[in-house]
Amino acid sequence: MRDAEFFRRWMAAAATAVEREADRLTELDSPIGDADHGSNLLRGFTAVRAALEAEPTAAAPGAVLQLAGRTLISTVGGASGPLYGTLLRRTGKALGESAEVSDEELRAALSEGVGAVAQLGGAAPGDKTMLDALVPGVAALATSYAAAGTAAENGALATVPMRARKGRASYLGERSIGHQDPGATSSALLLGALADVAE
Ligand code: ADP
Ligand code: MG
Ligand code: MG
Repeated sequence: MRDAEFFRRWMAAAATAVEREADRLTELDSPIGDADHGSNLLRGFTAVRAALEAEPTAAAPGAVLQLAGRTLISTVGGASGPLYGTLLRRTGKALGESAEVSDEELRAALSEGVGAVAQLGGAAPGDKTMLDALVPGVAALATSYAAAGTAAENGALATVPMRARKGRASYLGERSIGHQDPGATSSALLLGALADVAE
């Protein structure tokens, strides 16, 4: 079973990964975007870290993720803020108010969260977005956390030959081909952080 502390560790690990990779995420967002993905997420996850530290009493897994999601929505201006915010809020909501959740409950909740991202952004796998890492990553949770991290990373790499159909990169049409999607790359970091803390 996974308690609130586990979810705090996941968010802290995600913040650390974003700090480490922020420059690379922004570089990926230069040729097919507006070169702000790393700074957007750095601002967002720094605020998530602070919000969770300021509220040490968030005692349930669902409450931790909902606080993180609300914080991302209110601090990240770009498209990724509402999308990641929705992912975490919806996942947190699906976890309910239990003090501990099973890995199977987490897998089901994350599937709901990913569904909410697809609904909000109107994207599907193959559109060269964060969903290209999130969908295979969360599907692979049925195998293991490590498999989810690897599947998300492979999903991010698989965005290179895709043509973007959603978000800023879609304005480039054919010229979006040949570049890795920054949001798929950060989604792989998020699921990689989960795999790290779940070991
Ligand atoms: P912005 O494009 O507003 O500057 P970011 O640079 O922070 O926002 O995030 C860009 C990422 O957001 C893209 O790489 C893509 O993965 C993701 N994204 C953009 N639009 C959508 C959408 N409609 N559905 C899913 N993901 C999207
Ligand atoms: Mg951007
Ligand atoms: Mg922007």
